Amino acid sequence: MTLARSIAARPRPARPRPPPRQSSSPRGTGRAGPDWGQVSPPAPTKSPIGFQLISGVSHKQKGEDQRTAKAKATATSTCDRSEARREGRTTHSSGHQPFSKGTSTSNMSCVPVADVVDDTCANCGKQGSDTVKLKNCTACRLVKYCGVDCQRAHRKQHKTACKQRAAELQDEQLYSHGRERQEGDFCPLCALPIPLPKEDHSFFRACCTKTICRGCSLAAKKRGMFDCAFCRAPCPDNDADQLAMIRARVKKKDPEAIYNLGTKYCHGELGLQKDMQMAVELWTEASELGSIEAIFNLGNAYFNGDGVQQDEGKAYELYKKAAMQGHVVGRHGLGNHEARKGKYDRAVRHWRISAKMGDEISVENIKKLFMAGVGTKEQYVEALRGYQNAVEEMKSHDRDEAKSLGY
Ligand SMILES: [Zn+2]
Ligand SMILES: [Zn+2]
Ligand SMILES: [Zn+2]
Ligand SMILES: [Zn+2]
Repeated sequence: MTLARSIAARPRPARPRPPPRQSSSPRGTGRAGPDWGQVSPPAPTKSPIGFQLISGVSHKQKGEDQRTAKAKATATSTCDRSEARREGRTTHSSGHQPFSKGTSTSNMSCVPVADVVDDTCANCGKQGSDTVKLKNCTACRLVKYCGVDCQRAHRKQHKTACKQRAAELQDEQLYSHGRERQEGDFCPLCALPIPLPKEDHSFFRACCTKTICRGCSLAAKKRGMFDCAFCRAPCPDNDADQLAMIRARVKKKDPEAIYNLGTKYCHGELGLQKDMQMAVELWTEASELGSIEAIFNLGNAYFNGDGVQQDEGKAYELYKKAAMQGHVVGRHGLGNHEARKGKYDRAVRHWRISAKMGDEISVENIKKLFMAGVGTKEQYVEALRGYQNAVEEMKSHDRDEAKSLGY
């Protein structure tokens, strides 16, 4: 069957920049515009990621998913210009050497590699001892060898099982790491995870490079605190001061500040000329210093070939790296990556993780697979429940109030 139905996947957009917020300036300028010092967390560039439900084989497709469409509807960012691309995108031993340990020279039977007894060389059968140190095959850890010669001699017959096990080991890591949201996703004041998309529910503070939820930010204002609610630094009320504040932190090699400056270049904000190459340069530096957001955005840049030579393989590795450190959108993107290849079971495994971390689109995708007869109802129900729990955990009185006031 050909399932041509398109399924929600995003490029997680170049986040549409939120419209300027009306705010009463604490400094009394009465200026309408972005809230002083309250910059939404940097919007990622457009992301990977979209897929269409396909039957069986991988193939290349173009299309657009809901988030792209949504982003396009409101986007002001030039980073949004290009449309998301879609990628479409028993070992048998023979000729082992007889071994001589002690008495026996009995012929070893040809055995599948996996059956080789733990403490013998998989090639010659020599047993490990004080004098014979066996070393694991580092890729699979399934077998041991008495030396490089045996390992080399055994390579041909071991290759398939080794690769398979190595892939399994990688998967174990991939699906077990990053199941909790990264530290930067939690408001440092109320300690609750920030709802997604983060930039709609929080403000980035250049003074301390903290991302503070809008509930806490509003609560601070109500108490008469107009400076940074976290570090109490006065908030800059113009672009130049804001930029100077970011640059001061950049000089100190603060990864989040470097990442943030990159997004300013990406979007051409704070009076800067849009410059994707500069953005990529900064994100690269920030990612090396440990910024998970920078890793993810760098992935987007490589995926889209924006400011850098397009390289999907590299993009995937970066998404993986971000996801394994708890980047929700990165995790969602891995699901899309698998879905585009028609590997729906793998896709669902990723989306279940991102759904439980509060990503709604991941739930929608799982639902669509279920509706299309590719996924199961249990998967959908479980993802939905996980998502709902995450939403509950992100609620607070202050956040509700901020939301109702459109703050
Ligand atoms: Zn050996
Ligand atoms: Zn191996
Ligand atoms: Zn908070
Ligand atoms: Zn601060």
